[in-house]
Amino acid sequence: MMEADQNLFDRAVDQMTLRWPGASEAVAAAAYLDDGSILTGVSLDNFNAAMNLCAETGPICEAYSQGRRIVASICVSREPGRDGFTVLSPCGACQERLAIWGPTVEVGVSDASSSSGWSSRPLLAVNPYYWAAAFAEDDVWPSAAQHGS
Ligand SMILES: [Zn+2]
Repeated sequence: MMEADQNLFDRAVDQMTLRWPGASEAVAAAAYLDDGSILTGVSLDNFNAAMNLCAETGPICEAYSQGRRIVASICVSREPGRDGFTVLSPCGACQERLAIWGPTVEVGVSDASSSSGWSSRPLLAVNPYYWAAAFAEDDVWPSAAQHGS
């Protein structure tokens, strides 16, 4: 099983540095696909903040376009006044997007109990009462076909 690990974290940081070298504030994400390859992306920022997109959306759309499954995802933030990088748990919208690939998708989460400040958890642990489970054919999670993929 592939988790959100240090390698994935580093790839997100690499993507952030590539796109915004030296920026004091930035967000980037990286995702493992089912074949072990990695996709990266950055947040899409816009003057109209309602049009902003999470950093995970690039890898999610690309994986979907390729017909591949995301098996792990991480989102990393750099914020003014803070040293280093912070792992951001996936927002509710990104949890919904990643849910296409099932409850075992691993995601990086902010975790104060971990020495690194983050850990990897399956979507089912992050969202144990996923609303769409009410429609699951197996009572746990809607299938990929039910998600429309
Ligand atoms: Zn999000």
